[in-house]
Amino acid sequence: MSGPEVAIDLGRIERNARTVVARCAEAGIKVFGVTKGMCGMPQVARAMLRGGVAGLAESRFQNIRRLRDSGIAAPIMLLRSPPISRAEEVVRSVDISLQSELAIIREISRIAERMGRVHDIMLMVDLGDLREGIWPNDLLPTVERILEMKGVRIAGIGTNLGCFGAIMPTPDNLGQLVAHAYKIERLAGISLDYVSGGASSSLQLLLDGTLPSGINNLRVGEAILQGGVETFRETPWKELEADACRLTADVIEVKMKPSRPIGQSGYDAFGNQPYFPDDGDRLRAIANVGREDVMVEGLTPIHKGARVLGASSDHLMMDVTDADPPVRVGDRVAFRMNYGAMLLAMTSEYVEKVPLHGVEITPRGKMVQIVADRGAAAMLARLDAGARLEAMDYDVVEPGDAARLPAGLMRLSAGTDRRVALEALAATVEETHSVGLIRFDSRASLGSERDAGGAATENSVLSQVLGLMDEQGPLQPQLSPENVVLIGLREASPAEAAVLKQSRITVFTMADIDASGMRQVVREAIRIATTGTAGFHVSYSPTATEIPGWADGSGGMTVRETHQAMEMIALAGGMISMDVSALSATLDERVTAETLSFVMSAFGKRIL
Ligand SMILES: *Cc1c(COP(=O)(O)O)cnc(C)c1O
Repeated sequence: MSGPEVAIDLGRIERNARTVVARCAEAGIKVFGVTKGMCGMPQVARAMLRGGVAGLAESRFQNIRRLRDSGIAAPIMLLRSPPISRAEEVVRSVDISLQSELAIIREISRIAERMGRVHDIMLMVDLGDLREGIWPNDLLPTVERILEMKGVRIAGIGTNLGCFGAIMPTPDNLGQLVAHAYKIERLAGISLDYVSGGASSSLQLLLDGTLPSGINNLRVGEAILQGGVETFRETPWKELEADACRLTADVIEVKMKPSRPIGQSGYDAFGNQPYFPDDGDRLRAIANVGREDVMVEGLTPIHKGARVLGASSDHLMMDVTDADPPVRVGDRVAFRMNYGAMLLAMTSEYVEKVPLHGVEITPRGKMVQIVADRGAAAMLARLDAGARLEAMDYDVVEPGDAARLPAGLMRLSAGTDRRVALEALAATVEETHSVGLIRFDSRASLGSERDAGGAATENSVLSQVLGLMDEQGPLQPQLSPENVVLIGLREASPAEAAVLKQSRITVFTMADIDASGMRQVVREAIRIATTGTAGFHVSYSPTATEIPGWADGSGGMTVRETHQAMEMIALAGGMISMDVSALSATLDERVTAETLSFVMSAFGKRIL
């Protein structure tokens, strides 16, 4: 580890979402989870969806694209009006958008109509906070104009409070919102799906029992991401967990120095004239994080007795005289962040983001289920696969009734061709909330061919897995391209290369393996496949490996490199399941034997 890092506890985010969703459900309120504080990180969005939010809400197109790219099909709300030039993107990428200007709504309608669609909008009403919104007197005339447009539908009305004018939501102003909703329904003769009563700050009224009935939607970010630390300043909402995100950095200097700078004072690096009280000599520590990474004023050290003094662009000065335990060079120090600090840390490209799971990865133990198609089953039997696994202390269990993997059970799927990966992954996805994929193959398999029955062919296996062949992939949202790694690629058509470039899949070609070595590549692959997941699936095609005398593998990884990769995977311990293809009688016997020995390595076979 080096440099600033934000650790994100997805377990806490999921539990917070569940708490908020459950409380809101009692009042008939549906929650949209706001991901903008986390830059639309797909793992965070998935944690919210697991917690039960009805949809996601985002303010930036880049983030929305990130969510959609990663296969999230849940409804997405655009939290601010787009510029006119992005109207088409609105219609294409989001299910509903917040709007307050006729000119923009008109353009969206025109484009939606041209595309043969109707775009849902939520009209924003300004109830006094003076950020976006139609002034209440203009509301009905605006609605009437919109009703003439064919490409948009008024799906609801909403308001935003506590942002610019720091106006609190109250029974009074939210009561006005509900009254406006009724008036629109009555006078315009339409029915509204949403009456959206604001953000996290409106939850306080809900808890107090004073939220006007008629509000049926809230857009909640802070309470889920931060546990309501800022929303419930006075009386915390106890069930919510704080500290889902923490910033950490390295201590790079610890020295006793005077508390007051010495010499003639001028301006600091940011044009200010700071004042320093004289507290005598103090022990000071410097952490390698600064204003380029985060809003320093929003940081609170978690380390007992440590205090932030200030920062320049890359150095954060702390007083650690009273720190307990003492702070030393090389330590990692952790900070709690307020919403502003979190926002900046998440958008700084210098800060690494690491999603973690509060829940431990279940150690997959010594039980393995073997699933094979007919051709592969014969090969496995001939090579004594079951007996060899048993010799490694595995219990080999029958497939049959164990459609679900009990904790601790791994699955080995074997097939005559690459299509084995489809069922193998589908089964694993069923059992996990999220899974990564490490795939060793010479080919990308990202084509779009289908067989006569409409199913994927060997050339389109990965497209099918990633849901690129249908509107909505069968394996989404548990398998995200951000957790997919391809190793040993030697062949990709121009079309496949284009798909790869656009996707968030990580690829290590043979050239990359040559350049950085198998060790480095596999270490990185495991990191990517386990980031925010419950573990990973390994897919292996023998064509990835150059087996002496076998043309199909020429130019591939060496036999030794393949063993090394599999041994590292076994040691890392996150493998949930594995598939291996090309196990058929038509294959050279040496190749099959070698292939099975790679599988044994992945399941933990060691030389000694
Ligand atoms: C950011 C935002 C929210 C979410 O606010 P939180 O305080 O994080 O819950 C809701 N609605 C709109 C329009 C927003 O811009």
